[in-house]
Amino acid sequence: VTFAEFGLSTPLVARLTELQYTHPTPVQAATIPALLQGKDILAGANTGSGKTAAFALPIIQQLIDAKTLSQTKSATKSATKSSTKQNDVSCLVLVPTRELAKQVADSFLSYSSHLNGQLKTLAVFGGVSVNTQMLALRGGADIVVATPGRLLDLVSSNAIKLNRVKHLVLDEADRMLNLGFTDELDQVLNLMPKQKQTLLFSATFPEEVKSLAAGLLTNPIEFQL
Ligand code: AMP
Repeated sequence: VTFAEFGLSTPLVARLTELQYTHPTPVQAATIPALLQGKDILAGANTGSGKTAAFALPIIQQLIDAKTLSQTKSATKSATKSSTKQNDVSCLVLVPTRELAKQVADSFLSYSSHLNGQLKTLAVFGGVSVNTQMLALRGGADIVVATPGRLLDLVSSNAIKLNRVKHLVLDEADRMLNLGFTDELDQVLNLMPKQKQTLLFSATFPEEVKSLAAGLLTNPIEFQL
């Protein structure tokens, strides 16, 4: 299989060629087609398996497809850009640490680099000034990669709204729970619409992760990779 055969668009495939990703890893081959169809997934995957591209590529593809569609619609209806002012987010990726937040956001940016700035990607995490992040979030973002605590701070100051999230990724869910983010995670999850695509990645599956997955995922495809 090649990335082009998955139906990923030319700017994405061109970027992967540049990065010398000649073939999908097993995680990517298993997950990308299902994710492009909008399915939920529950995946056991470690770092180094290529899981970041496995979720980032199909999400980027779906976001650009949705943009193209809404641009076509607003061109015909001459609609106003009502949604851009509300600090909305289309894709939220929750991660346990600030290092991972930066790393995952960098991956999204790298894969999107031939998309002419169509997608705005931001990382938000604690331990640094909140003001810069608040400013950056003005007008919303397509993709936000966040640690749960800082995300909640930004929600309570209205710097970010989660009620239009269409794709949710929980990366390293077991670490997130181990680090004591259970309450924050519950609060964040309650702010999002029920109707969305959800992806959960975890290295291990203790009861806590299983019950989180059970409450969150709809008919997920399961992979242990
Ligand atoms: P991850 O598991 O997402 O942290 O990715 C591990 C490393 O594998 C990263 O440095 C990626 O850039 C690289 N990588 C991911 N997918 C591929 C691929 N299909 N071919 C070659 N390298 C890849």
